Amino acid sequence: MDRPDSPTVVVLGSVNMDLVTSTARRPAPGETVLGTAFATVPGGKGANQAIAAARSGARVRFLGAIGDDAFGTELAVALSEAGVDTSLLRRVDGASGIATIVVDGTGENNIIVVAGANGRVTELTNTELAAIADADILLCQLEIPIDTVLAAARHAHKSATVVALNPSPVAPLPADLWAAVDLAIVNSLESEQYSAELAQVAHVVRTLGRDGAAYLGEVGAEHSVAGLAVDVVDTTGAGDAFTGALVATWNQGAPTALKWANTAGALATTALGASSSIPCRRQIAAALHAG
Ligand code: ADP
Repeated sequence: MDRPDSPTVVVLGSVNMDLVTSTARRPAPGETVLGTAFATVPGGKGANQAIAAARSGARVRFLGAIGDDAFGTELAVALSEAGVDTSLLRRVDGASGIATIVVDGTGENNIIVVAGANGRVTELTNTELAAIADADILLCQLEIPIDTVLAAARHAHKSATVVALNPSPVAPLPADLWAAVDLAIVNSLESEQYSAELAQVAHVVRTLGRDGAAYLGEVGAEHSVAGLAVDVVDTTGAGDAFTGALVATWNQGAPTALKWANTAGALATTALGASSSIPCRRQIAAALHAG
């Protein structure tokens, strides 16, 4: 998938195993019910976005942590199989991050996330810092300790590495972090919550669900793409597919990257699951060509 012009991306973030249980009805406190299906699906915003960037053709290194359990091994394999370099993936004692998801017959869900190993991504090593400085882009989210995100972003900012932040899930962030961000990728909710902070970011990309996406640059440059008409099956992970695809093509300029990412995001809604529905370069190119 590598091409000579493909950027090198370091994704610093979370990796989880999603434990998805389907049931007609959720149990009341103290009650036991029989479920209808169970699946384990690799997830975590960091891993999903890393997989999306790799499938879009970027050279991606994932910086995060798995536990020393069986889920950890599976998660590392899932990243490698998607073409993500796992040489910076840490294996720590204890449990991998998990999300327990219960989906009932009406489609309502309950989710419990346990950070596990994701909470242990602290104190970046010299090797990790060097990888960040060497990369074209550093991409972060907010599912690992914020101090680590801040340290990585500052280091990248001192080097020539573009700092991309998907500030999700929404949390109060230090002003120092915003000062180091070159590119922010936000959905409608995040765009509202961080409106004051986003005003100081050089490049802001807003995802607008079915309405596509919009770019606003610091010198007043604006660009938008309309949403693609697709048969939506499951919108989970569309934002991650969009974000990974965007950073993988960012070096081609905002209009090209926006169009590419919007296509990746739309395709991701046409299949079930998050990491499993992320389209590859060939699928995105074919859909762009057909449109
Ligand atoms: P998030 O999932 O993070 O809330 P969005 O809902 O804005 O983010 O979706 C991210 C991107 O995925 C959108 O910018 C768009 O490109 C694509 N997308 C999401 N929902 C749809 C949809 N219903 N139809 C077409 N494209 C969609």
